[in-house]
Amino acid sequence: MNHITSLKCLICGKEYQPDEVEYVCPDHGYEGILDVQYDYGLISLSFSPATLAANPDYSIWRYRPLLPIEPDSPAPPLAVGWTPLYEAPRLAGQLGLKHLWIKDDGRQATASFKDRASAIAVVKAQEKGAAVITTASTGNAAAALSGICASVEQPNVIFVPESAPPAKIAQLLTFGSTVMLVHGTYDDAFDLCLQAAETYGWYNRNTGFNPYMSEGKKTVSFEICEQLAWQAPDAIFVSVGDGCIIGGVHKGLKDLLALGWIDKMPRIYGVQAAGSNFMAEAWQAGLHGLDVLKKAPIDSHTVADSISAGLPRDRIKAMAAVVDTGGAYVVVSDDEILAAIPVLARGCGVFAEPAGAAGYAGLVKAVGQGLVSPDDRIVVINTGSGLKDVKSAMTAVEQAGTQPYRVEPDLADLQRVMAEIGR
Ligand SMILES: *Cc1c(COP(=O)(O)O)cnc(C)c1O
Ligand SMILES: [Zn+2]
Repeated sequence: MNHITSLKCLICGKEYQPDEVEYVCPDHGYEGILDVQYDYGLISLSFSPATLAANPDYSIWRYRPLLPIEPDSPAPPLAVGWTPLYEAPRLAGQLGLKHLWIKDDGRQATASFKDRASAIAVVKAQEKGAAVITTASTGNAAAALSGICASVEQPNVIFVPESAPPAKIAQLLTFGSTVMLVHGTYDDAFDLCLQAAETYGWYNRNTGFNPYMSEGKKTVSFEICEQLAWQAPDAIFVSVGDGCIIGGVHKGLKDLLALGWIDKMPRIYGVQAAGSNFMAEAWQAGLHGLDVLKKAPIDSHTVADSISAGLPRDRIKAMAAVVDTGGAYVVVSDDEILAAIPVLARGCGVFAEPAGAAGYAGLVKAVGQGLVSPDDRIVVINTGSGLKDVKSAMTAVEQAGTQPYRVEPDLADLQRVMAEIGR
């Protein structure tokens, strides 16, 4: 891994060699999250937009020189990354915008953005010869780890709050993971998982703890920029729970700027649910930089379970992503999140779970607040598939006033119904 120069503590700036520390800065404990530093000059010698253009591997592994794995480590077989970037002119029109794209990470192998990080976790664990991998999760990180582990027969233990949507728990059990349903919140599951990993010596995938997860998540920015022919957008909207995704989005863009492949940093907008708005509150209170560590945890409750986090684990990176790029935190209500599900689906055919639709709800809010201009080129990331949470989708369509019609299996009855609905 000579393309990696060090792992740098976000708090004290101390740098470590990758084999010196496993997860966090020893001087700063759980909060001493490390950021992977690369030798961009070395990477540029053999890696460029031109070499990429000639690479037929359309997955996150096409960016291997910018990933924290050994050059010869095998990639798991499940297809991760290179999700579609759809232009969405009808949605743009509704919002008075000219250029809008939806990056659909509901199209990942296990149907959420988390595959990008879990794929790296599995490669790292296998490099280390770990017997077991573990993670805590609101559901999707677990499903992603579970599926990718299944593809390479890697034992794993998963901690999720017992309130996780049934579809996500079903994925875990179907992939054959050992599943601990924690009688408590995601934050409780996280703490228990950290203790378990230490006690049993398991490889720890946890978000905002394992430094390599942001590195997997940053691939979304590589893809967005490559799909836009290296013309970086003006603004990117993404929902925020622990803040690892938004930190990854920022990291990917910083990599591309350092390489000189894009010529400007897009503004990054973090979208939070009103009932889980730690980062938005901290941002409004001016806790920019390390001051974000001073804020006490909040109680979190939202229909968007994937972004419910009372103490965002990656809050330093999540704050920097918005502050350093001139973006903003935007807060949306659960009703606005649910309303966005059918709007997004009908406007461009992308079916999102609540946390995914929250990104779009955030764009709607930002337009209302004058945070974007009609000429901005804007990308909204959908982070998870609607099939992850069918119950919320049903609530959303009910609230939108749509329901199915009941019909007997004969044409006469169909004609009665068609007449009633005026067709
Ligand atoms: C995990 C997740 C998020 C939030 O990512 P963080 O890194 O926790 O901020 C958003 N949407 C979906 C669908 C997720 O699974
Ligand atoms: Zn430190």
